[in-house]
Amino acid sequence: MRFLAVLKFLVWLALLAAIALGLYAFTRSRPQDVPWAALNLGQPIGLFTGRKLNALTRDAPLCRALLADAGVRTTPLPPREGAGGCGYADGVTLDAGGARAIAYAPRPLATACVVAASLAMWEWDVVQPAALRHFGRPVARIDHFGSYSCRRIYGRASGRWSEHSTADAVDIAGFRLGDGTRITVARDWTGAGAKSAFLHDVRDGACRLFATTLSPDYNAAHADHLHLDQAERGGSFCPSGPRGETGQHRAVTLPR
Ligand SMILES: [Zn+2]
Repeated sequence: MRFLAVLKFLVWLALLAAIALGLYAFTRSRPQDVPWAALNLGQPIGLFTGRKLNALTRDAPLCRALLADAGVRTTPLPPREGAGGCGYADGVTLDAGGARAIAYAPRPLATACVVAASLAMWEWDVVQPAALRHFGRPVARIDHFGSYSCRRIYGRASGRWSEHSTADAVDIAGFRLGDGTRITVARDWTGAGAKSAFLHDVRDGACRLFATTLSPDYNAAHADHLHLDQAERGGSFCPSGPRGETGQHRAVTLPR
């Protein structure tokens, strides 16, 4: 009987070792799909990438280190304090060159580090693959409406502060390819062509990286831009997308 008990123990031990080995192998091969593996901006987008990016909101030193490790060039901005809930301590400008190829216009983008990190992944894993798919060439320039803006949601006199008030958001107006082709949210969102399909693809891809992704599908206030932010609410809000999925819709008041 003692032999049988030992054998049973050994079988259990082998089973546990196999499970541990399997988990270890899965973590090594797909770190983006397990919550405990550290984020690396060079990893493909996985099940937990959005949450890990969002957590950088509270860890600026880690955010800056991840950008540097990934070859993204940034310049830290001095802390800014505005009225009410406005201001930021973790601002950076996304500089040209390095591991990124897209320029931001009409001026370099200054934003919270977490948004810069999310935009770098969006460029590599979403925007450029979609541009190659739909146009056969990459995006050279992103036209934006800015990030930091000391205001409440929809510019109202009272109510919740916009994510823009801490530079945790960016408004994307359009894209330009190397040959000068322009794709704008205002003009090209609707329709059956490649430009509309591209815009919907980059919106859907943003939903996997940002806490909030708003497009013309959401309301008229977003008819001419995509609003992307990293609000800390523990989940993603992505009305009408990604296509084919219901997403996590929550009844919250959202920013422009
Ligand atoms: Zn916005």
